[in-house]
Amino acid sequence: MSMRLPLVNLLAEVRACRACTDLPLGPRPVLQAAQASRILIVGQAPGARVHATGIPWNDPSGDTLRRWLEVDRSQFYDASCFAIIPMGLCYPGRGRSGDLPPRPECAPRWHPPLLEDLEHIKLTLLIGRFAQERYLGADPGGVSPRVESFQTHLEAGYMPLPHPSPRNRRWLRERPWFEQLVVPELRRQVHAVLDD
Ligand code: SF4
Repeated sequence: MSMRLPLVNLLAEVRACRACTDLPLGPRPVLQAAQASRILIVGQAPGARVHATGIPWNDPSGDTLRRWLEVDRSQFYDASCFAIIPMGLCYPGRGRSGDLPPRPECAPRWHPPLLEDLEHIKLTLLIGRFAQERYLGADPGGVSPRVESFQTHLEAGYMPLPHPSPRNRRWLRERPWFEQLVVPELRRQVHAVLDD
């Protein structure tokens, strides 16, 4: 029979995870969560700078994400507001065109017990393809149609988003509807939960 751990114990167990022995900089799970968290951010995986500091989204991608959400750093790093649990909790290393994908064994191992303990989540932001495939299923169209049809996922509490990485500047430039339509609705949704 499996015992359910209190979140604080579970977080300690997650942070001590050393399951992936071949990570280029070694394991360093980076996440944030509290029993009271109301918005869950599921991103991809820490970059090298996040790995070095141990602070999630502590990089230019995080600056863009905070601008999209219209929250400052103190609110963003308040775990009673935001839980931050990426698809891969450790830096996966670099490939030929940017960082490698999140480790595939990570989310199946840690998301179910973590999400079970987060009972107050009202909105889940799914950032990028990996998070969207896990929580919304595979879509051959990829990220764009999902983000464009974000309204259809809101009822279930999900909001699919592109990755705010500087590498995605072209994607964003070619889709002005994202800043014009999706970002204002994202802010509205986030602040409705935070102000509740
Ligand atoms: S990537 Fe996930 S499964 Fe692998 S060592 Fe880090 S926390 Fe553990």
